[in-house]
Amino acid sequence: MIFSERILKVKPSPTLAVTAMAAQLKAKGIDVIGFGAGEPDFDTPEHIKDAAISAIKSGKTKYTPVGGVPELKKAITMKFKRDNSLEYSPDEVTVNCGGKHSFYNLMQIMLNDGDEVIIPAPYWVSYPDMALLAGGVPVFINTDDASGFKITPEQLKNAITPRTRAVVINSPSNPTGSAYTLDELKALAEVIEKTGIIPISDDIYETIIYDGFKFFNIANVSDEMKRRTIVLNGVSKTYAMTGWRIGYMAGNAEIIKKIETVQGQSTSNPATISQYAAIEAISGDQTVLAHMLIAFDRRRNFIVKELNSIPGFSCRMPEGAFYVFPNVDGVYKLPGWKKVIEKYPDKYKSSSLCAYLMEEARTAVVPGIGFGDDNYFRISFATSDENIKEGMNRIRAAVEKLV
Ligand code: GLU
Repeated sequence: MIFSERILKVKPSPTLAVTAMAAQLKAKGIDVIGFGAGEPDFDTPEHIKDAAISAIKSGKTKYTPVGGVPELKKAITMKFKRDNSLEYSPDEVTVNCGGKHSFYNLMQIMLNDGDEVIIPAPYWVSYPDMALLAGGVPVFINTDDASGFKITPEQLKNAITPRTRAVVINSPSNPTGSAYTLDELKALAEVIEKTGIIPISDDIYETIIYDGFKFFNIANVSDEMKRRTIVLNGVSKTYAMTGWRIGYMAGNAEIIKKIETVQGQSTSNPATISQYAAIEAISGDQTVLAHMLIAFDRRRNFIVKELNSIPGFSCRMPEGAFYVFPNVDGVYKLPGWKKVIEKYPDKYKSSSLCAYLMEEARTAVVPGIGFGDDNYFRISFATSDENIKEGMNRIRAAVEKLV
């Protein structure tokens, strides 16, 4: 088989690969603790499930308009007004099959071969590959824990070339949990305003935020930024609805129309039943989020404290999302590290470390290299307190063997 050059540039998603590996081992009866996929361990709230059931019972089981039913588009415009003080008309929003699909569609309509997309690193594993699949070129701006995993206006300015089409802002971030303040976004907007580039704001973790941090979107900075920004969001993380596959985006009506063209020629509408569930999620009772947030916050505090007491680890407290991204450069300097490399050889140290933790600690974590930095790995703490406690004990015991 001759494959397209585009697919040959793309690798399988490491987050999904680690999750699948953990599931396989569990199916074989091996007791693995999964810190892989970023998927809330909570069930989808009852009132949302009920809305889906009544959609089925009332025959809402056929095709819908490609970009979603008008009631959902309306609910999304209300959400933007309610939560983000952003006004959109229904023709400025569209619904896709998950947040990932929103970004995929956007890359498809935006990029010509060789067009560049600026992606701050560490990044979510799929951004670069979706840009590559569309013929684009991902351009990375490196950040680290010392800089709070945030890009500076200077870095952004230096990364922009005549081929730059867009910059991705994912705040709070997957995998670092780092979030930009309004002032930081203003400083980035000053650079963006002087160019023709489009900010892509991936707000999927918007509601998962701690210590009273106030979420802002770069579209909040000015009318010009609102005019230019494409906002991506979805119900997966906020409402524990990962399997329902509903993402959405907002932006210029011309762009939205093109998104619906690509979607009309590929997936057609997102699942009808899921759309009705999403209407209830977005416009129904929002108090259900509070108990999830309390649990995430408790786990965040516990896990950061634990990780910082493991030899060779240093972990920044994330402002949002349900990930921690510990720096493990110190582990690579421990006396036992050579043996890890010998037993689990890999081009990348973070992959060797994660293979070691899978084998020796029976914990599934995602190597930092998948997110663009080999000095880290990612833990999703969207799992039970018991799992986290046990997982930390196992990781600690495995790493202490290297001291
Ligand atoms: N976005 C989630 C994660 O990073 C789900 C898996 C994926 O699509 O990457 O774990």
